Amino acid sequence: MIVFENIANQKLPSEDEIVDDILTSVATIKMYNRETIKEKILTSKLVGRGGSSTLIGTKWNHFLQFESPKYLVVNAHEGEPFCEKDRALLRYETARVFAGIYLIAHTLEISEVFLAINQKYKKEIEVASKITKKLGKKLPKITIHETSERYIAGEETALINDIEGNPPRPYQRPPYPTEKGIFNRPTLVHNLETVAMLPAFITDKDFTKAGTEQSIGTKLFCVSGDVPSVFVGEFPFGISLKKVLSSAGFSETPYAVMFGIDAPLNKIQSENLMLSIENLRAANAHLGTGNIRVFNSEESLFKHLFFLLDFLEKETCAQCCPCRLGSKILPIAFRKFYETKTIEDEVLFYAKQMYKATKCSFAAAMANCFLGVVANFGRNS
Ligand code: SF4
Repeated sequence: MIVFENIANQKLPSEDEIVDDILTSVATIKMYNRETIKEKILTSKLVGRGGSSTLIGTKWNHFLQFESPKYLVVNAHEGEPFCEKDRALLRYETARVFAGIYLIAHTLEISEVFLAINQKYKKEIEVASKITKKLGKKLPKITIHETSERYIAGEETALINDIEGNPPRPYQRPPYPTEKGIFNRPTLVHNLETVAMLPAFITDKDFTKAGTEQSIGTKLFCVSGDVPSVFVGEFPFGISLKKVLSSAGFSETPYAVMFGIDAPLNKIQSENLMLSIENLRAANAHLGTGNIRVFNSEESLFKHLFFLLDFLEKETCAQCCPCRLGSKILPIAFRKFYETKTIEDEVLFYAKQMYKATKCSFAAAMANCFLGVVANFGRNS
């Protein structure tokens, strides 16, 4: 099990080292038969690292019901501002990414893999393309796809549209991509971090021993905000927030902490909060993708919130009415809130409607962000 406190302290691997490490991992994975791997995933409580904390076994179980040809999409779009986990994995842990691709494609007999990397990660795209060429038939067929620059292209159905050459806009489910995805064929979409940790889950006993009962293994956390520089580290689930923040160079008591763009904001998260999916839920938060923003003052927090609401207003794809209108109403209401610390009942009512009748969770993310601020920083909070 690889655990690092700061990924940037790792040595950047050469292409030859990456190739050797991939071949070693592939040889290890080949020692396990497909049925053993499937059984272990399908019966485990292992959750994906993409933010919704879905059980990987549930997704695989649905995917397995459909016939070939089937596709795998590895989602390294990472459009969330200040989040750099995917870039860190692609840059420093490239072999783990490719070993994970091999494991999934081999186990589920997948015809083609789309490794979808945000177009802003030029260097990582170049390295991934070279590795794919060098290994050729030793790996499944892999197409490197450069994703659209739009934030929403990271939503799984929008990403499928993007790969097919359509505008990156989410579409209504069901049917889920596991049944009808790319070119209407069954498509398994996994976040990059999920793919990269699967080989350790199968082949490394220390990985399954790490973490908590409901949050198995290790997790990458990205810390930004009032820290010297954006930080990425890998820790066992259940690590304290204090430890992660101090590793990132933040040693004060935080004024506020946000767990990703779509998580409700809590005024002060206890520094002793243990970072697991179940503990975050109990604290009325959720872990999201593990992207932590930390603030040492109200001024710094609100500066970020202004940025965030403007960002969300710009990035909505505007297909759904609650999202289209909410992205206009909430930033205006938020500016007023900043001055008065109060909010009209009509705006609160509207924000709560944003959880309904939308094609993706983007509108809910915006409402979460807004309602979390109102609940924690309003006059009566
Ligand atoms: S919720 Fe917003 S981003 Fe998602 S599909 Fe609807 S309009 Fe687009």
